[in-house]
Amino acid sequence: MSLQQISSFAAGQWVAPGNGARTIASAITGEPFATAGNSALDVQAMLEFARNTGGPALRQMTFHQRAKMLKALAQTLSGHKQALYDLSFNTGATQNDHLIDIDGGIGTMFVFASKGRREMPDGHVYLDGDLEQLSRNGTFLGQHICTPLHGVAIHINAFNFPVWGMLEKLAPTLLAGVPAIVKPATNSCYVTELAVRIMLESGILPAGALQLVSGGIGDMLDHLTCQDVVSFTGSADTALKLRQNPVILNNSVRFVAEQDSLNASILGPDAVPGTPEFDLFVKEVSREMTTKAGQKCTAIRRIIAPDTQVEAVIEALSARLAKTTIGDPRLETTRMGALVSSGQKADVLAKADIIGQEAERVFGDPTAFDVDGADTKNGAFVPPMLFHCADPDNAQRVHDTEAFGPVSTIMGYRDLDHAIAIANRGQGSLVTSLITHDTEVAQNVVIGTAAYNGRIYINDRDSMKESTGHGSPLPHMVHGGPGRAGGGEEMGGVRGVQHYMQRTAIQGSPRMLSSLGKKWVPGAPEIQGLAHPFTRKFGELSIGETLNTASRTITLDDIEHFAHFTGDTFYAHMDDDAAARNPFFPGRVAHGYLLLSFAAGLFVEPNEGPVLANTGLDGLRFMKPVVAGDSIKVRLTVKQKTQRTDEYGEVRWHVTLTNQDDEMVAEYELLTMNAY
Ligand code: NDP
Repeated sequence: MSLQQISSFAAGQWVAPGNGARTIASAITGEPFATAGNSALDVQAMLEFARNTGGPALRQMTFHQRAKMLKALAQTLSGHKQALYDLSFNTGATQNDHLIDIDGGIGTMFVFASKGRREMPDGHVYLDGDLEQLSRNGTFLGQHICTPLHGVAIHINAFNFPVWGMLEKLAPTLLAGVPAIVKPATNSCYVTELAVRIMLESGILPAGALQLVSGGIGDMLDHLTCQDVVSFTGSADTALKLRQNPVILNNSVRFVAEQDSLNASILGPDAVPGTPEFDLFVKEVSREMTTKAGQKCTAIRRIIAPDTQVEAVIEALSARLAKTTIGDPRLETTRMGALVSSGQKADVLAKADIIGQEAERVFGDPTAFDVDGADTKNGAFVPPMLFHCADPDNAQRVHDTEAFGPVSTIMGYRDLDHAIAIANRGQGSLVTSLITHDTEVAQNVVIGTAAYNGRIYINDRDSMKESTGHGSPLPHMVHGGPGRAGGGEEMGGVRGVQHYMQRTAIQGSPRMLSSLGKKWVPGAPEIQGLAHPFTRKFGELSIGETLNTASRTITLDDIEHFAHFTGDTFYAHMDDDAAARNPFFPGRVAHGYLLLSFAAGLFVEPNEGPVLANTGLDGLRFMKPVVAGDSIKVRLTVKQKTQRTDEYGEVRWHVTLTNQDDEMVAEYELLTMNAY
């Protein structure tokens, strides 16, 4: 049988396997079926192609244009899911596993596309945080900004998620405006190769934005600069080796690592048998042990239960695991497929033996288990294995040995402090979960373990129906963990995009910062004297365009009328003596909402026009009380514009209300949707 040729995509060309190619075997049959790798790959040309062609093209686009590009890529991949599923069975993954890897990866890309449109500007500079006041009179300010790195992102991925592993890194990288060279693990690179082909053939990406190395990357890391990023997922050993590269150290190349992690799940003391939490715990643990045959960086490796419940958990978990049908992942009845390779199987069994030195195997026998539709001899199958460690305090290997398969160890705790101490013995994890209905337990565990975890997942009867699962990293939330988990962080919404950008503190005048950030800053020039801004279309309005209104005097009748009309007869508006006893007020004051209503009356342009809707109001502050006889006027300035569709866009207005002495009475941001 001829082997499938798994190519690389280098400097604009597909490069077939050549010298140094490795053979890849099916996880199900052990038969070699593909080959990948070519030691003649010109890695220098790849880096240059990314830096000189891909990077400039991506950086020319705005965040919104890149977000639209991500959406189009995700839609294209969605249209080819079946082909990806079909190929991915060879990795040993079941259809349910594909939903996590393939659908999960595409879903992650959609989320970044949407976050890019909603949370990032339609420009080239991302403003990080608020303005900083650096001067008494506001003529010198500070603003942190993020701009894309000028280099290339090297993504080195693990074998377990050939699609999600690529897309969860690629989406934030492309959104940032940085080209990527993706290097999947060789064992499952054929699935990644197909996904890359689909994306490249769609023509959506600019040239140089995405390249692929199937097989080894040669000496690519020796050519990196301070503008490049390495994002790695895999074993701690490889991470250590790669991050020690002298070029990476000398050039301070960013190195993001996500590696082995001895994640824990804690059963709260309240979650005794008979409670919904106990059943939930057993379900979550069993699912985490068997999904992807336990080859998940977030899988539960250590099960931490009250001493009094250990027996009950072993019993319930064993009953559940016994129902896990192991077999050919293509069979609909199969619940757990194979490990990715016979090498991985040997590794898992060896690690299980190490764990077995400190813990007793209480479920699963790797020498005696059934496999449907395939054979245990050539396929990389192992059964779920549950160990019980009776003395977790004096054990070491159960806390530091990751058997990257369906293997987990249960250990008992005396009290919550003990549970926390055991969990933290993992020396840094991607995730710890806690199943409890008791908020005090949750508080103690979070405070005790958060410093050791990238994510803490709390679940109970209230959230169990909609919860996303202990093992699912979500694009909205950070993924990564301290210490043993690699010390890296990925995703977490826009935070994940920032890993591929440089944060720079910019100091300057309001005029400079306004123009740089495409966002009006108080103190920057105002554009006055044009037609009423509500008569001007989205495309006609300029940042800084300002309307100053006439003033209006507030009378006691106004306050009375508003109070009785709305029902807001709070004493500060109605009772002069009571209001005067309040340290904030001189006597009866106007309602803040009355002032806002009058402000709208002052600035509005009543005729039908380009303003379609008032969609919100942000950051409202009342600074000075207004009493009967005071007058107010409004300044309305275009602060920021965000195009939403071809037909309309959002205008953010900076609004200030001042009194007859020009003192600021109120300040807020008004949002309107305006026709293009
Ligand atoms: P590795 O660390 O061996 O490989 C991870 C990635 O690094 C692969 O793409 C691999 O490529 C690449 N790589 C390996 N050596 C080098 C090198 N010298 N230069 C550049 N790239 C290199 O992990 P595996 O995926 O093989 O899994 C081994 C163990 O790692 C598992 O048993 C498990 O314990 C752990 N693991 C942890 C994961 C996690 O997310 N926490 C995920 C997967 C694995 P290639 O395949 O071509 O060698």
